[in-house]
Amino acid sequence: MKKVSQRFSIKLLADEIVKGQVAALSKAITLAESQKLADQKKADTLLTQLLPHTGRSVRIGITGSPGVGKSTFIDVWGKYITSLGKKVAVLAVDPSSEKTKGSILGDKTRMAALAKDPLAFIRPSATRQTLGGVAENTREAILLCEAAGYEVIIVETVGVGQSETAVRNMVDFFLLLQLAGGGDELQGIKKGIMEMADGVVITKADGENEKKAKQAQAAFQHALHLFQLPESGWKPSVLTVSAAQGKGLAEVWQMVSSFQAHTVQNQSFEKNRQQQKIRWFHERVESALRKKIFESKKMIAKIKAAERKIAEGKLMPSAAAKEILNSQ
Ligand code: GDP
Repeated sequence: MKKVSQRFSIKLLADEIVKGQVAALSKAITLAESQKLADQKKADTLLTQLLPHTGRSVRIGITGSPGVGKSTFIDVWGKYITSLGKKVAVLAVDPSSEKTKGSILGDKTRMAALAKDPLAFIRPSATRQTLGGVAENTREAILLCEAAGYEVIIVETVGVGQSETAVRNMVDFFLLLQLAGGGDELQGIKKGIMEMADGVVITKADGENEKKAKQAQAAFQHALHLFQLPESGWKPSVLTVSAAQGKGLAEVWQMVSSFQAHTVQNQSFEKNRQQQKIRWFHERVESALRKKIFESKKMIAKIKAAERKIAEGKLMPSAAAKEILNSQ
């Protein structure tokens, strides 16, 4: 009986999500973020049911150092996108989430205008974070938002650790926000991040900063020319924006739209998504294996014993690894 009612409630939840009901969407994301095995199973069933309703969005990753203007930009740009009649979901990383356990209030104040917009959905990341700020289940959250009819999904990340790579691997378009410096803007930027970017936005291009922003734009554009073109053949562009004055917003949207048109046309859009799904699968196998080995009581004893022998120089790490794998 329990099984039947559970299946029914998941079906109901799926129906509500497809109808765009925000409470159902929030509940489903919470389910996907849960550590409990039973919840994860429910989330898997739910996502499998919703799969036909997913995929029809443009997924945009946004990164930049704290203070560069991410929240302000997403707030204002998100409003611009909803003004085009499109539904926007923001999967945000609350910088204070360590302390506040990902307080929704935090993100709602950071993006005050967008939070009030009926076409927008803002969700802070869960407490269970990996890789410096990206919740482990952001991918599931993206799919759930798509099933709920969100056409533009923004995944925000603070530029910490490996988080950029993680977000890059789950979005279609990766946008780097950057401040204009005194001509030294290219210093201190990790080359890897530049290589990952499909577009760069120089923020706070207003007042006294406007001239510097234009100079930075030229410097970045030049630097990007030196990189090899990605497989998609897309040439990243550099734009300037003032979120405070609402300048440059349409141009950023235009850049994303051109990217989408270009990559859909040459099929790299779909190819990238396929590769991402396969990578996701591999990551899950790896993490399940890791859990199975390092978190099982039986294995922990064996691992401890092997560690002792390795430390004493009586066992080769590679041989011990083989032994552990064969014994589980
Ligand atoms: P985040 O840490 O990257 O999310 O950055 P915030 O959006 O919180 O912005 C950091 C600071 O920059 C805040 O004080 C904002 O008011 C300011 N700021 C953001 N966008 C602009 C802009 O377009 N122009 C100006 N002049 N200031 C801005």
